[in-house]
Amino acid sequence: MDAAERVSAVEPRPAGVEPRPAPGQAAPVRTQDRTWHDVFLPPDVAHVRDMARTSVAKHLAPVAREIARTPESREAFPWDAFRGLAGDGCFAVPFPEPHGAGLEHPMLATCIVTEEIAYESSSMAGVYDGQCILNARCLSFARPEVRDRVLPALISGESAFSFATTEPDASSDLSPDTLRTVATRTGSGYLLNGRKCWITNSVVADWLCVLCRDGEEQAMTMLLVDMRSPGVTVGEPDLKMGHHGQITADILFEDVEVPAAHVLGEPGRGLGVALASLAAGRVGIGAAGVGVAQAALDLAVERLGTRVLFGKKLGEMQHWQYRLAEHATALEAARSLYQKAAVRLDRGDRSGEPEASMAKSFATKLANDVARDALQVYGGYGFAKRIAATGDEYRLEEIYRDAKILEIFEGANEVLQWVIARHLLGRDLTG
Ligand SMILES: Cc1cc2nc3c(=O)[nH]c(=O)nc-3n(C[C@H](O)[C@H](O)[C@H](O)COP(=O)(O)OP(=O)(O)OC[C@H]3O[C@@H](n4cnc5c(N)ncnc54)[C@H](O)[C@@H]3O)c2cc1C
Repeated sequence: MDAAERVSAVEPRPAGVEPRPAPGQAAPVRTQDRTWHDVFLPPDVAHVRDMARTSVAKHLAPVAREIARTPESREAFPWDAFRGLAGDGCFAVPFPEPHGAGLEHPMLATCIVTEEIAYESSSMAGVYDGQCILNARCLSFARPEVRDRVLPALISGESAFSFATTEPDASSDLSPDTLRTVATRTGSGYLLNGRKCWITNSVVADWLCVLCRDGEEQAMTMLLVDMRSPGVTVGEPDLKMGHHGQITADILFEDVEVPAAHVLGEPGRGLGVALASLAAGRVGIGAAGVGVAQAALDLAVERLGTRVLFGKKLGEMQHWQYRLAEHATALEAARSLYQKAAVRLDRGDRSGEPEASMAKSFATKLANDVARDALQVYGGYGFAKRIAATGDEYRLEEIYRDAKILEIFEGANEVLQWVIARHLLGRDLTG
């Protein structure tokens, strides 16, 4: 069965059948199925949510808490979940035929997969975003023979891919003056020198799309680098407060030879490639924010329906009814917003702005707001990983720690407010 058949062969989940987690690993009833009424999903993606939910329940949910709690190391890369999701067709969703599923709305479908993954594991959504959004968009600029060579391993999950723009002194601000990673032209291609940092999947990646300054030029070029090339060194994994499954590390390049055929797009036009990839990534992180917010909301709903205080259920307190209603309304808006931004990208808009920035900043702030309130609903149990006396495990502290990075990476939310304001006030005023 090829990738397209695998994606479309998955039958919709029968109504009312919910994947359930192991006891004590709290994944409650999906309130999304009570409150969200789809009125505009196109037919080619209508079944993707069911496909992704089934795949996540099978390959990710059983190991998601372990992924979240295992400190970062090369050995900790979640290969089983990664390849399980790939095997079910989740990695084929963004790509055109002949390699991928060939959907009419690949970005919308990919974002829906991202939301489903994030519901169980925010960090795995980060891994998926790197592999299947940032790199998918970047590799669409590759020559056909290069795509033929690398995409089958990306889509099957045999190989992990990385995407690198960030350096110690260049991150939110990407310009030729800030980039220190330089590609010097040779007769047959480029010699690459420099350092990238914070690179997702790099500790296990076979391939990397990297933004670098093009020699002495005030221009940037995007290159596809074989991570097994002499001169590539990957550092030790960073130790972070959350997103442990999204393992990051520095990459050092010392006279790394890159063939000319591995230029993505045109030489000197790499910033456009990077920005197109990051625009798509931004919408994907908006979808991840929705998945995380939904998970936190569902956990809060469960607790409000069961915890008894002052002789009545916590959910009878009007304070929490109001808070839930506000969050559910914002969640509906956030989901609609990322889907609209994704459809704009699918229709050929290069940036999807300002909806892309709105979707990312709104959904990721919401994820943090809902996580904070859900944790509050759980009281001390929200603050706990495991209660010694009972062995009960709680997930809210994980969601709370993981949610924070969503507001920072792939466009810090303040930068995205700037982008939105630019659409209102114009560049002359906002810069
Ligand atoms: C888990 C994780 C995974 C990552 N994966 C990758 C990856 O795969 N590839 C990659 O290239 N990078 C990756 N990054 C790097 C990430 O993209 C950067 O951390 C991010 O761009 C922010 O850059 P910085 O940390 O250097 O913060 P800075 O650029 O120093 O920004 C710091 C803060 O300044 C504020 N700020 C910035 N600009 C403005 C402004 N215009 N107005 C007001 N305030 C502003 C924001 O609050 C921002 O949070 C990852 C980072 C993490 C933590």
